[in-house]
Amino acid sequence: MSRIVYVNGEFVAEENAKVSVFDRGFLFADAVYEVSTVLQGNLVDNNAHLRRLSRSLSELEMAPPCSDQEITDAQHKLLELNGLEEGLIYLQVSRGVADRDFGYPAGMQSSLVMFTQTKNILNNPIADTGIKVITVEDIRWKRRDIKTVGLLAPNMAKHEAKQKGAHDAWLVEDGFITEGTSNNAYIVTNGKQIITRQLGHEILSGITRTAVLKFAETAGYTVQERAFTVQEALEAQEAFITSASLFVMPVVNIDGTDIGDGKPGTVAKNLRKIYIEQAMDRRDL
Ligand code: PMP
Repeated sequence: MSRIVYVNGEFVAEENAKVSVFDRGFLFADAVYEVSTVLQGNLVDNNAHLRRLSRSLSELEMAPPCSDQEITDAQHKLLELNGLEEGLIYLQVSRGVADRDFGYPAGMQSSLVMFTQTKNILNNPIADTGIKVITVEDIRWKRRDIKTVGLLAPNMAKHEAKQKGAHDAWLVEDGFITEGTSNNAYIVTNGKQIITRQLGHEILSGITRTAVLKFAETAGYTVQERAFTVQEALEAQEAFITSASLFVMPVVNIDGTDIGDGKPGTVAKNLRKIYIEQAMDRRDL
């Protein structure tokens, strides 16, 4: 069955959804994006995603395509038209269409495209077993705090992980883990100490990360935001990742070495449970 896709104010069948070959998103990856989760037909923490979108746009001096309210209204209409109860809604803003030139003209009209994806979020079977990751050198650009569609480096890392029988890759810079290919990375030590990279240009400020760290402190865990090494991760009691689509996902093996007993850890399982309860209860976390 064909989806209904949103393209610049129009709701059209996916086979009729078109953007120009001169769109700068296509030519230069001059575009930013967000992915929000849908549970029981509702968007989870969508206002935080729209705030991060605004920040990405302003860092690139890209004009917003329309108001946040217009985006939200269009998201809800798209969910309704597609009857989406559980899954994802993808949103991409590109700088728009201009003749190909590195420099872009003033006053460009940015473009907004959105589509839905059906996905098993709550009962994701991988959460029961946890995932395996490999470590790969982080060759991405130096402004990972901006959520651009220039995703070739993390795509290659994830492809390598899959070829090696793992689910994902953790990216390493100067011996320290930055984050996963499309998620934030954490380790647990001393039973209740959670360690994750501090915010900066080196990682994306995950919307799930913000919510989970808040829930973790409320639940009595301590949180240390600092860089950690691959060796520390290998010796940790637990490891996990967070993202809008995976929530809290245990990591049970890194580069072929089991973490803890090689099973999902209690902290990760507990944080996953808390996150799901909160996401079902409230739309803004
Ligand atoms: N880091 C990177 C590089 C990502 O692509 C993502 C997913 N968009 C995240 C972290 C997690 O962010 P969020 O929790 O907002 O999905």
